[in-house]
Amino acid sequence: MDIASNLKHIKEEIAASLIKSNRASNDVTLVVVTKNRDISEIKEILNEGHFILGENRVQELKEKYDKLPQEVEWHLIGHLQRNKVKYITEKVRLIHSLENYSLAQEINKRMDSLNKPMDCLIQVNVAQEKSKFGLKVEETIPFIKEVSLFPWVKIKGLMTIAPEVDDPEEVRPIFREMFKLFTSIKEARIPSVEMKFLSMGMTNDYKVAIEEGANIVRIGSAIFGPR
Ligand SMILES: *Cc1c(COP(=O)(O)O)cnc(C)c1O
Repeated sequence: MDIASNLKHIKEEIAASLIKSNRASNDVTLVVVTKNRDISEIKEILNEGHFILGENRVQELKEKYDKLPQEVEWHLIGHLQRNKVKYITEKVRLIHSLENYSLAQEINKRMDSLNKPMDCLIQVNVAQEKSKFGLKVEETIPFIKEVSLFPWVKIKGLMTIAPEVDDPEEVRPIFREMFKLFTSIKEARIPSVEMKFLSMGMTNDYKVAIEEGANIVRIGSAIFGPR
């Protein structure tokens, strides 16, 4: 398994999906998901000049943060517990998984003491899978309106994890619904809320996600090999 050539291949595939959708070739940010991967594997990514990485667990992010260069831009993509917020506030560029009020409250409190804002995406569970976190579609706008009142929590977009399916075409309607929601929030012009990032698409479904408007994809196995 050659990590560097897998990364190149994925970048080419992303570019091809963008061309197919008549979008600019730099319109998607790739977050390389490093969960369960060791430092030497991750260094192969950095050696290719790619520094945007995602972790889904706080503990793992903390450990890797200390062992990797400062240039890495870390994204927290997995479920975040209130009591773990304090460990990541100075380490991450973007939290993809804001989905409850008390978490927003805690992020606000911690960022207040640092005197700087935190960029967050709101996690939506479109398919309402019990195994996954996230708001229902119809809960999303009221939630954003409440959270937008916290001065240190900056809402920058939405994130979803689609159900696991064999054929990615099966989840196209989910991505389509996310894009619709993203657009309607944009049009609602909620003060201090920006709909800039739509984080959706993983190894099995990123092409479909890009075709439906994703501008952040989170990819692990297609780069590092199966977990
Ligand atoms: C693991 C994970 C990914 C990447 O999944 P792959 O199928 O390995 O590409 C993306 N997003 C989240 C939230 C994850 O936990």
